Amino acid sequence: MVATQPKMATQIMGLTTATQAPPTSSRSSSFSTFLRCNTSSTSSSLLFLNAWFNRRLSIRVNSVRPLSIRVRASATASSQDIKSSSSQGGGIENLVIIGSGPAGYTAAIYAARANLKPVVFEGFQVGGVPGGQLMTTTEVENFPGFHDGITGPDLMDRMRRQAERWGAELHQEDVEFVDVKNSPFTVRSSEREIKCHAVIIATGATARRLQLPHEDEFWSRGISACAICDGASPLFKGQVLAVVGGGDTATEEAVYLTKFARHVHLLVRRDGLRASKAMQDRVFNNPNITVHFNTETVDVVGNAKGQMTGVLTRRTDTGEETVLDVKGLFYGIGHSPNSQLLEGQIELDNAGYILVKDGTASTSVEGVYAAGDVQDHEWRQAVTAAGSGCIAALSVERYLTNKNLLIEFHQPQREEAKKELTTRDVHEGFDITLTKHKGQYALRKLYHESPRLVCVLYTSPTCGPCRTLKPILNKVIDEYDQSVHLVEIDIEEDPEIAEAAGIMGTPCVQFFKNKEMIRSIPGVKMKREYREFIESNK
Ligand SMILES: Cc1cc2nc3c(=O)[nH]c(=O)nc-3n(C[C@H](O)[C@H](O)[C@H](O)COP(=O)(O)OP(=O)(O)OC[C@H]3O[C@@H](n4cnc5c(N)ncnc54)[C@H](O)[C@@H]3O)c2cc1C
Repeated sequence: MVATQPKMATQIMGLTTATQAPPTSSRSSSFSTFLRCNTSSTSSSLLFLNAWFNRRLSIRVNSVRPLSIRVRASATASSQDIKSSSSQGGGIENLVIIGSGPAGYTAAIYAARANLKPVVFEGFQVGGVPGGQLMTTTEVENFPGFHDGITGPDLMDRMRRQAERWGAELHQEDVEFVDVKNSPFTVRSSEREIKCHAVIIATGATARRLQLPHEDEFWSRGISACAICDGASPLFKGQVLAVVGGGDTATEEAVYLTKFARHVHLLVRRDGLRASKAMQDRVFNNPNITVHFNTETVDVVGNAKGQMTGVLTRRTDTGEETVLDVKGLFYGIGHSPNSQLLEGQIELDNAGYILVKDGTASTSVEGVYAAGDVQDHEWRQAVTAAGSGCIAALSVERYLTNKNLLIEFHQPQREEAKKELTTRDVHEGFDITLTKHKGQYALRKLYHESPRLVCVLYTSPTCGPCRTLKPILNKVIDEYDQSVHLVEIDIEEDPEIAEAAGIMGTPCVQFFKNKEMIRSIPGVKMKREYREFIESNK
């Protein structure tokens, strides 16, 4: 439990910093180690943060006009509506969709539009983040309808909102158990169990790890599987970095990292790249990327301070081992299908992909359908995933109708959408009575003037997991309105503040009270973790 964890506190020139040991996920345990190893640098960072707040505050404090804007969560059908409508079917739902990539959301849009009121488990962390693989990419230039391209997270946001608009019931939870051997089927997450007549499996694929000897020790402290999320962090900015892999993921990561890094080494085990021709051209034409063919990644090495200093590589042709001096290693080595939930219940191929009947979404079990990358080892594109999600949803509608199982749900009246704060709002006005804020100006004001607990969410524009965390955190903050403030800091807009606060990747949440940093939580955690901390510190 958060409240019972030990505190470390350091008093420096009147500024107290305190950090709590975070819970035991790999990301947070390495962050905790970092805090323990770097108490003095964390303290001086916060000292700088404090001085910086004071300095900047004196420059801008007179330039604000009060502005009153309410920020609230987006409109959806209330859980009350959902529960009562479910009871029309004797507590058995028409359809559960597992997964929220292009396949899952497209299936949700079609099923919701057909008044099936699908229940969607968007996932949380077991098989990737809500929104799926595109949450870790920048520009998607081949999805129809966006002639100038669109970022992966923006595309997934739009799909999500479209599914929600038509009445899909969305839960950001991982499914932990599925029984499709008995009808009605059972789907259980950490928070609920649902009986249903049909299931669509759209669980996609997950980034592979190398399982290096020191991987856990340096995970999130030098090793990352998401260049888009972590590339802009102070840990990697201006440094020499390495990317491992030879396919589209690795080449895209290498090109992206050259925005921030001094130089990028691409470590490729084979003697050629598997990436598309277009990506190969971008890599070979980039003077800031060096490609090392026939090079195996053996381990990462660090110094006595626990900082990563290099990658141990081995030539596959000569066996020669070398340490390459780099401060970060990014994985781009592909994905495995997330079909473990169905093992032993439906037919899978040798690699674990769900087998569907040719040209359909039908699996070996009647009423169970599969869509997207979890059943497609060949095409693996957003548009093919979306297309198969459509086929799956239409098949479910036909199946339920033929079996006389379909219960239609009509849309409840939607609330008017709530206004979000824009950057302009933030620069032009600040109201300390409001709960939610954006930008460094608000953070400085709240840090100095508010008696409330201040929750700071550090994000970067292209970080998919940041978009996952925002609605989670917003919902929790809404529960504690008037006892807490939420401030969002974009680390690309405010790099000094991110550096001062020791931010090593996004998303990251820090809690401040009485000018004291009392907890830092990197990554995306379950609602209850933020809730418990706020409850015991508000
Ligand atoms: C870096 C990168 C760049 C890419 N760029 C492009 C591009 O430009 N154009 C293009 O067309 N394609 C691109 N792709 C491929 C594309 O992202 C995939 O083909 C597509 O996302 C597959 O969609 P999906 O819905 O099948 O699965 P995914 O996107 O993998 O989504 C799977 C979903 O299932 C959820 N999930 C998994 N397990 C569980 C569980 N137990 N309980 C609940 N939920 C669960 C996950 O949280 C996730 O939401 C790219 C892929 C990568 C990695």
